[in-house]
Amino acid sequence: MAEFDLIELFRSRCARVRADVTLGIGDDAAVVAVPAGCELVVCTDTLVAGVHFPLHTQAADIGWKALAVNLSDLAAMGATPAWATLALTLPDANRAFVEHFASGFAELAEQHALALIGGDTTRGPLTASVTAFGFVPIGMALRRDGARVGDAVLVTGTMGDAAAGLGCVGEQERDTAIVPSAPESARIALRARLDRPQPRIAVGEMLRGRASACIDVSDGLVADLGHIAAASGVGIEIELARVPASEAFRAAVVADRQSTLQLAGGDDYELAFTIAEADVEAALAALRASGLPTTRIGRVVRGSGVLVLDRDGNPMDLPRRGWEHFT
Ligand code: ADP
Ligand code: MG
Repeated sequence: MAEFDLIELFRSRCARVRADVTLGIGDDAAVVAVPAGCELVVCTDTLVAGVHFPLHTQAADIGWKALAVNLSDLAAMGATPAWATLALTLPDANRAFVEHFASGFAELAEQHALALIGGDTTRGPLTASVTAFGFVPIGMALRRDGARVGDAVLVTGTMGDAAAGLGCVGEQERDTAIVPSAPESARIALRARLDRPQPRIAVGEMLRGRASACIDVSDGLVADLGHIAAASGVGIEIELARVPASEAFRAAVVADRQSTLQLAGGDDYELAFTIAEADVEAALAALRASGLPTTRIGRVVRGSGVLVLDRDGNPMDLPRRGWEHFT
């Protein structure tokens, strides 16, 4: 596939008409307009084959995930997605691969009316690097540094599914946490959580002006809450018993491995956030309307770092290095 054809394929599938795109794919650079009263929110995340997704992942899922992990960062900032650029490195210009990649990317882009406005194409080991652009009303971005002592700590969705999904990938299963007799339906559900993360854009938008701090769970719950704690100069205490698990997760993961996957498994792309006690009920009511379950798991305390209380209320010993190796 010639480079021109490849660019034309992305243009026809993913460019979309938006009034704020003066000039999209096809010139030396894109020209876009940020709406009055808004700030531009920008992030970049790269997926490397075999590192950020298993080798042999479906091309459409890679295209979806390359955009999804970036939209998740926008969600964590409370931003509304608008545009993206894509730097794609391919070992060979295989047409079927590129078409499927573009269709997965386009499927998610459509859901958020996002336009692909440019990119770059190079030859090399399979890598997809996306830069995403979104808007927030001036001063309204959700940050990591606003958590205050006494705030409640909440998460969207369920934790550990993507890590369990990784355990369901072929060869690796033998030495992971997956129950050998786990039902096929659970394996499929967990794989979908790994391959097709759902960026929580609507939740992020709803949290503007409500959450005191917010982050997306990409490295693991404890690690990511640790980023909020460090940035805010506070400690965070959560209760293991409150950390939400999906039915598929409970059916498929070996009982004594569940807490590790829930606390340290990455790639769930849910939102973890803090909110002043007085605002929790109203926020939960608003979030309930979104259809996505949100769970209160702990609170912000004086001090530093993240403390997890086990089911008996005792502090768990979190092997720091172990966590890092896990992800
Ligand atoms: P230049 O040589 O001026 O950098 P390129 O030939 O790399 O331009 O790209 C031509 C046009 O195609 C540019 O508008 C660029 O943004 C776009 N483009 C290149 N690769 C991609 C891609 N993978 N996805 C989307 N747009 C791309
Ligand atoms: Mg040029």
